[in-house]
Amino acid sequence: MDLNNLKTILTENGYKVTKQREVIFQALLENNESHLSPEELHEIVSKIDKDIGIATVYRTLLLFEELNIVYKLDFDDNRYRYELASEGEKHQHHHLICTNCSKVEEVKYDLLENIEEDIEKTYKFKIQNHVLKFFGLCSECQSKEIEQGDLNGTKKTK
Ligand SMILES: [Zn+2]
Ligand SMILES: [Zn+2]
Ligand SMILES: [Zn+2]
Repeated sequence: MDLNNLKTILTENGYKVTKQREVIFQALLENNESHLSPEELHEIVSKIDKDIGIATVYRTLLLFEELNIVYKLDFDDNRYRYELASEGEKHQHHHLICTNCSKVEEVKYDLLENIEEDIEKTYKFKIQNHVLKFFGLCSECQSKEIEQGDLNGTKKTK
């Protein structure tokens, strides 16, 4: 997804390509790994164009979501987050959320094709998308835990 994709999608759907929409899109693009909340996004774009208010950010995200330019994410941390839909991605990819350090990793593959086929057959249900979140400990936090566990272990045996 790049600026040209944005322009095409907006034009094809009868929306104007405005400077503010471009700025908001660009900020999403440059910070895609961060899974920005509207507030964080607003902080970034208001430095580029101080006329972009939080209401404009909300409105634009709503439009982008409608046009499948962004995905809305909920990591259960009391705010919505957004990321650009990847090219060639039919469905949303999955997220691994560390319950210790709150890091979010992405699983770039769908991996659900077989299940989807099953569901569509059994329930005659046409799947358009899915949201899958995994909660647990990232590899870093796991190795920290093992270190601490070892220390405690040696203390106890002595
Ligand atoms: Zn899928
Ligand atoms: Zn972690
Ligand atoms: Zn993601």
